[in-house]
Amino acid sequence: AAAAVEAEQVVADLREKCATPESLLRDVASAMAGEMSAGLEEEGRSKVKMLLSYVDKLPTGREEGSFYGLDLGGTNFRVLKVQLGGTKKHLVHCESREVTIPPHLMSGTSSELFGFIASELAKFVADEEEESTNLLNGKKRELGFTFSFPVRQTSVASGTLVKWTKAFSIDDAVGKDVVAELQTAMEKQGLDMHVAALINDAVGTLAGARYYDEDVVAGIIFGTGTNAAYVEKANAIPKWEGKLPNSEDMVINMEWGNFFSCLLPVTEFDQSLDKDSLNPGEQIYEKLISGMYLGEIVRRVLLKLSLQSGIFGDNDHCKLNTQFHLRTPHISTMHHDETPDLKIVSEKLHEILGITDTSLETRKMVIEICDIVARRAARLAAAGVAGILLKLGRNGSVDNNQRSVIAIDGGLFEHYTKFSECLESTLGELLGQEASKSVTVKHANDGSGIGAALIAASQSR
Ligand code: ADP
Ligand code: MG
Repeated sequence: AAAAVEAEQVVADLREKCATPESLLRDVASAMAGEMSAGLEEEGRSKVKMLLSYVDKLPTGREEGSFYGLDLGGTNFRVLKVQLGGTKKHLVHCESREVTIPPHLMSGTSSELFGFIASELAKFVADEEEESTNLLNGKKRELGFTFSFPVRQTSVASGTLVKWTKAFSIDDAVGKDVVAELQTAMEKQGLDMHVAALINDAVGTLAGARYYDEDVVAGIIFGTGTNAAYVEKANAIPKWEGKLPNSEDMVINMEWGNFFSCLLPVTEFDQSLDKDSLNPGEQIYEKLISGMYLGEIVRRVLLKLSLQSGIFGDNDHCKLNTQFHLRTPHISTMHHDETPDLKIVSEKLHEILGITDTSLETRKMVIEICDIVARRAARLAAAGVAGILLKLGRNGSVDNNQRSVIAIDGGLFEHYTKFSECLESTLGELLGQEASKSVTVKHANDGSGIGAALIAASQSR
């Protein structure tokens, strides 16, 4: 019984430290909007970098022809080819292939990584074009490259890597032009292809959704990491010194994963996670929200629970002690367990952490921990979305039938139902009934890769 009391205390503590009352979320939303303005004002003013994407032409739906896309995110990359049929037909065909990145390439050299990517791309192109000849009509192949790491763009089709995030750390790539790296690797493969656009997954999601709906104002990713992109008025970007585009709009790649505010409810678990991470002190918002970290936060709580209360019996802690051993899909599976005796939680604890013979009470406690961590993530995520709407002046009631569509993609949003439901309901809470009527959250499946191909298409118009 003493163990149970101790354990309850750990959970109660966590619940309190992770609390996200509506008033706090409103302040977080305002802080996000404030950081957005600061980041647009001047380079280096904000932790939210607000990078120019140089995408000033979003897809309209009228694009035609065949285009390639390449999507490098966190763990997998995808190669794809789309065939666009113009206004009436839209996306006529899309062929894609997903490839897992061998883990050793995530911390090797730049040329190894890009060499691997180019060789997989070359194979895909060869297979594709064997089946369908003459689609190109002698034109050069155009590629959109989705590269979901912070890049300082120099044009729509070039940019240097600012830093790695997530599980990547390839030192010699930092500061290099990733398009040049890819282009060199493709040449080595004898692959004749032109990189028409360099974007990230948030920009891609925005573009992919905009192709079908012109009211889409932002693209947001909740996957391994998290990021957001939105359409800004070119004249609202004081730091931009170049020539303003004809369209008067510019897509901003926020890199909001690096958002920080002392309002954020950071616990001892988050602090130690950050300290042990590949990028200590950075991407704090991302570390509270995204798929790479939620399972790891829960693992750290469970470890403390076990050490303090002995509630898991005398297991050897070996697995519970291993960083990133408990992954977000695992906690998602446990969290969604609806069997009366929480059989799935019991199985997962056994299978993944080697913890056996748990009582129903203990399993309930595990679910509550998952709930606290996932709910905090979803609510902070919603506050970020509300911050963007606030910045755009689209957070109030509107009388001119204005719609604002937020396109969201990423494995976390797609598969972690309790996360996405909580995010949507919290956004409703923050916007209020009136404003909620004009705001729609849309799951934009697979937008990021297709979006790259679509931007390649709109660029080559
Ligand atoms: P990336 O950011 O690498 O492009 P995705 O958008 O495909 O990745 O998202 C992958 C991430 O989504 C994984 O790292 C994981 O954290 C999360 N995820 C995948 N499946 C699930 C699931 N069933 N439940 C919860 N999270 C999941
Ligand atoms: Mg992705």
